[in-house]
Amino acid sequence: MIIDGKKEAAIIRDEIKKEISKIKLKTKKAPSLTVILIGDFAPSKIYVKNKEKSALEVGINSKIIKYPKNISEKEVLTKIDELNKDENISGILVQLPLPEQISKEKIINAIHPSKDVDGFNPINVGNLSSGYKSIVPCTPMGCLLLIKSIEKNLSGKHAVIIGRSNLNGKPMAQLLLKENCSVTIVHSRTKNLQKECLNADILVAAAGVPNLVKRDWVKDNAVVIDVGINKVGEKIVGDVKFDELKDKTKAITPVPGGVGPMTIACLLKNTLECFKARQI
Ligand code: NAD
Repeated sequence: MIIDGKKEAAIIRDEIKKEISKIKLKTKKAPSLTVILIGDFAPSKIYVKNKEKSALEVGINSKIIKYPKNISEKEVLTKIDELNKDENISGILVQLPLPEQISKEKIINAIHPSKDVDGFNPINVGNLSSGYKSIVPCTPMGCLLLIKSIEKNLSGKHAVIIGRSNLNGKPMAQLLLKENCSVTIVHSRTKNLQKECLNADILVAAAGVPNLVKRDWVKDNAVVIDVGINKVGEKIVGDVKFDELKDKTKAITPVPGGVGPMTIACLLKNTLECFKARQI
């Protein structure tokens, strides 16, 4: 079975849109998302534009603040402080990567945890790893929703995650632990990747290495989630050899059209949750 991320994401966006229109009718208020874009890195510009478009479509007020590549760290931190204090702003996102004069750590720490729609602030990371309520990073949340669209009960399943980044691998592991999976994280220094992957009932590939996972790396009937987005020539491919695997797995995500659309849908979900948390 091929998991249709576009369809799943459209369902989530539709639910969010309906909820926001009810909120607007009742309170005359709406969630709002402010995105800070620094520099002119082409992929970042595209991501930010897509985020803005998707936010507006569901009724989230969206604003992009653009800074030149040579902006000082202090100026960005001052702006974040201002946005943190602004009661009309529900969510703040600083698009990564950042220019070298700006510390990613300082920026992530500066965003108030209650407005941290990316779920990268250490307070949210700590809450997630303690099993408490937290804002969850968008891509792993999207992956979990796709996995759960196939398997409702993940208890006792063996999940293998390729990649240990703060963005994908680590939060994915926490989410699957919370679902009572046994979790193995493998990465660039793992000795025998194929052997580890062969144990997976659920395999999440987030290495950023084109076509890394081959047919003989995956056992029959596994659920395979491909997070990778890699440009090979003019083509976008994932970390998994989709054509080799699609008839062997229980379910598999394509690239594009799998995890990608879920990431933005989950960003909208996080923005709505941040808004609701401020209304109580
Ligand atoms: P990253 O570079 O921060 O982390 C990659 C991880 O993979 C590292 O932990 C590294 O140890 C591991 N790795 C690298 N090469 C490996 C190898 N040969 N074997 C095993 N492990 C290896 O990357 P990231 O930010 O986590 O992103 C990973 C991929 O996911 C990229 O292709 C990125 O474009 C994509 N991505 C997709 C979405 C989406 O919405 N679908 C969102 C974010 C990132």
